[in-house]
Amino acid sequence: MADTKERKLPAPAVSAETQAYWDAAAKGKLLVRKCTSCGELHHYPRTICPFCFSDQTEWTPAKGTGTIYSYSVMRRAEVPYAIAYVTLDEGPSMMTNLVQCDFDTLRIGQRVKLVFTPTEGGPPVPTFTPA
Ligand SMILES: [Zn+2]
Repeated sequence: MADTKERKLPAPAVSAETQAYWDAAAKGKLLVRKCTSCGELHHYPRTICPFCFSDQTEWTPAKGTGTIYSYSVMRRAEVPYAIAYVTLDEGPSMMTNLVQCDFDTLRIGQRVKLVFTPTEGGPPVPTFTPA
């Protein structure tokens, strides 16, 4: 890795709705929300299913593997970083950061895997690195 400088990430906002999500993150587990009414998975976690508006949703673990759907490298920042949408193998897409990689080699459709990145005073956040 040419550039070892990693951007510090701000602590995420934790609400009652996402408390279990961040508790799991602190243990290195990624959760997504599953609707028991229509069967769809979604992310970012919400109590109400965005597909059928049912409130019958529950936590389910994600494997932490996926592909880059889109990404953007912020090169003008003090420490350059890459924002991306990653489509999890389970289906939902999540907005995230791509870390520990050479930004010049990133490409759409690339396989990535979950790696948690520490934050300033909060739970670690799910980020992704090339698989
Ligand atoms: Zn639903």
